[in-house]
Amino acid sequence: MKKIIVAIDGHSSCGKSTLANDISHACGYLYISTGSMYRAATLYFLRNDTDIKDPVAVEKALNNINTDLRVIDGQTFTFLNDENVETEIRDMPVSNLVSQVSAIPAVRTSMVAQQRKIGEKKGVVMDGRDIGTVVFPEAELKIFLTSDPNIRAIRRYKELQKKGIIAALHDVEANLTQRDHLDSTRTNSPLAKASDAVLIDNTNITREEQLAMVLALMDCRIKGA
Ligand code: C5P
Repeated sequence: MKKIIVAIDGHSSCGKSTLANDISHACGYLYISTGSMYRAATLYFLRNDTDIKDPVAVEKALNNINTDLRVIDGQTFTFLNDENVETEIRDMPVSNLVSQVSAIPAVRTSMVAQQRKIGEKKGVVMDGRDIGTVVFPEAELKIFLTSDPNIRAIRRYKELQKKGIIAALHDVEANLTQRDHLDSTRTNSPLAKASDAVLIDNTNITREEQLAMVLALMDCRIKGA
């Protein structure tokens, strides 16, 4: 069966990774969370006190950052220089800095190059903010996901709790609002719906309904419709 690239973009915590994971399991596609890559780079900057306003320091740091996503028992984990950092990159210090780091042009150039290389193989589902617009403008299927901001904050809060990360609901809410603002207004590759992306608002649909909708769209694209 022909394999395609599925690009999923959208606001923070609207369920992009849930959808991408479901597609990956249903179709045997490789799932790449580009947000995890930006988060891992941010963690490296934090740990090494990198001055993000100093282009030389940023370039030097980027040369020392190697991120990869490994599937262990069906779950994807983010590795930074061979260390599993999946939990730490979801923590508030990283969440509070990642949008500033991901707005740096050199960071985006480095990450986008890695993401394009992974997508060469097809049979990939990638989620982020600029996948349909910048990373894979030629992706066969583009989805722009959104949902009600209050629902998103509660979902994120519960997700963090499940991972054992302690954060107050109002801090989670403030972080989502701030990241959406920074991500949508930055000069370089802002979060935007590609003109040919399918908009899905999942506020009032179930996870199963969402997946069924996307699998039907994939089927159409595979058949060339
Ligand atoms: O997807 P996630 O919420 O983990 O992404 C964390 C942050 O990484 C986003 O708020 C955004 O600043 C940045 N990001 C980005 N471009 C992407 C993916 C994520 O700028 N393709």
